Amino acid sequence: MPITPVDKIWMDGELVDWADARVHVLSHGVHYGSGVFEGIRCYETRSGPAVWHLEEHLKRLFRSAKLYHMEIPFSQEALADAVRETIRANGLTSCYIRPLVFRGYGEMGVNPLNAPVNVTIAVWPWGAYLGEQAIEHGVRVKVSSWKRNDQNSLPSAAKATGQYINGVLAKVESLKAGYDEAILLNQAGYITDGSGENVFAVRGGVLCTPPISAGCLDGITRATVMEMAAELGYQVREQNLTRTDLYNADEAFFTGTAAEITPIRELDDRVIGEGTRGPTTKELQGLFFSAVKGEVERYAAFLTPVA
Ligand code: PMP
Repeated sequence: MPITPVDKIWMDGELVDWADARVHVLSHGVHYGSGVFEGIRCYETRSGPAVWHLEEHLKRLFRSAKLYHMEIPFSQEALADAVRETIRANGLTSCYIRPLVFRGYGEMGVNPLNAPVNVTIAVWPWGAYLGEQAIEHGVRVKVSSWKRNDQNSLPSAAKATGQYINGVLAKVESLKAGYDEAILLNQAGYITDGSGENVFAVRGGVLCTPPISAGCLDGITRATVMEMAAELGYQVREQNLTRTDLYNADEAFFTGTAAEITPIRELDDRVIGEGTRGPTTKELQGLFFSAVKGEVERYAAFLTPVA
């Protein structure tokens, strides 16, 4: 999806013009994928723009950095303020937010430890990740021939830039075969997640999603949806899922900051359920989209005002 440029990007403590937010080609992260990042959304609410689950996302950023021995030269509070400052500086009412911590310029070779740690925060307007139509009508998905990075090769708990090359292989394979998105299996053959989304199946009114130990990202939207589903009276289970479990589900959907809640209408050319958004998916979307817009009192605490 093309990026819509805005005015400013936050780089290592100051706002710079969008066009000046550059890095040297010999930055460590460009060569070795030595970076960690987050994807966050800011929504328009009645009391102004607000960031959804800012604290949880920044906590995960710090956990990802720890896994790669990167010391972030800013506190979590300072980065929370920087996110809000960047949104204000660009006058946006809703946007996608991309904090990035990467090994910069100064050293070459695989050892990252002597390269500086740089931090940037970019924001831009971003609509529905898998298309506006997808939220209502769902997407067609392919189980990838590429397996998810094994956890003892690359830790799935970390949202690291280099790890995404695994998802890139799967995503491109699915697009070239005419699908919208990929789902990756782990080495044991169980479902992990999509290239940028967690996966849920609904069967007989029970919501199932793979456990984190399957090798999926510990998604923040996944946790929210599990909480919302339980509150709506659904049974929620974290359990290993095979591709057949998804073929035979009544409904299936993706969750993610970018994808929000997107129905999966087909997997490997098998129509799932009625082949359109199912009633449970619709109900969860209803609650989720109301909550992010600040319309549900009990979820208001998850929104951090930008002002
Ligand atoms: N899995 C992967 C591989 C992802 O990249 C993402 C997006 N961060 C997710 C799942 C969903 O996570 P979240 O709900 O925290 O955005």
